[in-house]
Amino acid sequence: MRTRFAPSPTGYMHIGNLRTALYCYLIAKHDNGQFILRIEDTDQNREVEGAIDMIYKVMEDTGLGYDEGPDKPGKVGPYIQSERLSLYKEYADKLVDLGGAHYCFCDEATIEASKGEGNEEDGYIDPCKHLTIEEARERIKNGEPYCVRQTIPSTGTTYFDDEIYGRIEVENNGLSEGVLLKTDGYPTYNFANIVDDHLMGITHVVRGNEYLSSTPKYNLIYQAFNWEPPVYIHCPPVMKDEQHKLSKRNGDASYQDLIEKGYLNEAILNYIALLGWAPEGEDELFTLEELKEVFDYKRISKSGAIFDINKLTWMNGMYLRKLSLDEFHALCLPYYKDLDQNYDLKMISELLQPRVEVLTEIPEKIDIFTKPYAFNAEMFNHKRQKTNPENSLEALKWLLPELEALEDYSNVEVITNLMMDIASKHEVKNGRVMYPATVAMTFKSPTPGGASEIAHIIGKEKTLSRIKDAIAKLEEVVNG
Ligand code: GLU
Repeated sequence: MRTRFAPSPTGYMHIGNLRTALYCYLIAKHDNGQFILRIEDTDQNREVEGAIDMIYKVMEDTGLGYDEGPDKPGKVGPYIQSERLSLYKEYADKLVDLGGAHYCFCDEATIEASKGEGNEEDGYIDPCKHLTIEEARERIKNGEPYCVRQTIPSTGTTYFDDEIYGRIEVENNGLSEGVLLKTDGYPTYNFANIVDDHLMGITHVVRGNEYLSSTPKYNLIYQAFNWEPPVYIHCPPVMKDEQHKLSKRNGDASYQDLIEKGYLNEAILNYIALLGWAPEGEDELFTLEELKEVFDYKRISKSGAIFDINKLTWMNGMYLRKLSLDEFHALCLPYYKDLDQNYDLKMISELLQPRVEVLTEIPEKIDIFTKPYAFNAEMFNHKRQKTNPENSLEALKWLLPELEALEDYSNVEVITNLMMDIASKHEVKNGRVMYPATVAMTFKSPTPGGASEIAHIIGKEKTLSRIKDAIAKLEEVVNG
């Protein structure tokens, strides 16, 4: 089993592309096969600088390790199409000899003019088709520019069997005799994919279903060469909504965008595996290793799957919670730059871990520690905790001397017990003490963590100054 991921270097790895890469990888690895990376850079107009490096980087970051590729030479290289031009020329000439293609000398103007007669370029009926090979070779020898076009029988049908979509059959007379090798010596996708898949020993071609309709044409070329065609696995599109595919043009998220937005690679891979494929059971959470085990390509569906960012966000939260505290803390650290570095940052991470679905939510969640403190008497009103500015003032006054007397704020439990003791001494529920304390220290609700955790994090000095300040301001509100 050998599969290949064959991206064009356009500078952007959209989710549909990445999903194809993942499926290629999983299908090969499920069977202990090889996964190959091939760069399809024959459309020089579309090429973007730095795009190839971007592909390497995404492949590395995702962990979709390939066995062969431009930077991992194997026996069937080179793995970049622009470095294989002599091969395409050789095979194009062979195909002409075998009757599957012919040389064409028509210039742009002739082709343009034919469009006026109702022919699209795609359906170009080429007069050169009727030249003998000898005539054509003579003209080439004389230096006439030429291209190589596919020769398609004018009658009959051609089909291929797709693993997902079943038999796809087309009338030959509807097929265009498209260019295989351009005047400048570059192949088109329609030719290069066949030569490369064959020479690279690809057994299973996995790609987007936009290629379904041209694949019968490719089979004609396989037949002409007398090569065995690969198994075809065309995948349904990844959609933005019912009507639209995800696309760069619409500014839809790429893999890199999602990483920048704070999504974890593991969660992205897990989620996109489910875009067009479903496991047998109910379980939806799979590591890459587990996916390799369970991925049965026969379960890929025909219909498009809608990319749902909310579902990805949920899944990302599940992954964040599965991390050890140390792992999670390491991911949080870049978001803590504006925090007082004396704070117990690890405790902050511990509070955040159950409360965050995407890492980029962190700055907002921790702004109680970074934003200027803004007194707001209204916030002391809380129905369920049965608090209001009056009884909050009272509770803070109970609390202040005890917190002043406490030396060591390093143990959260000690602070919690201290607060609970005060509540029980005054025969009120814990919330009557803890809620006003939390408000006094943060002026935010809800907060990640309760009063004792916050006191522990900001430390004795800040805790006392904030509670004193709240008492003073509440006095003004309550006592006028
Ligand atoms: N270069 C093509 C693309 O990016 C690859 C199609 C294929 O996998 O055959 O769409």
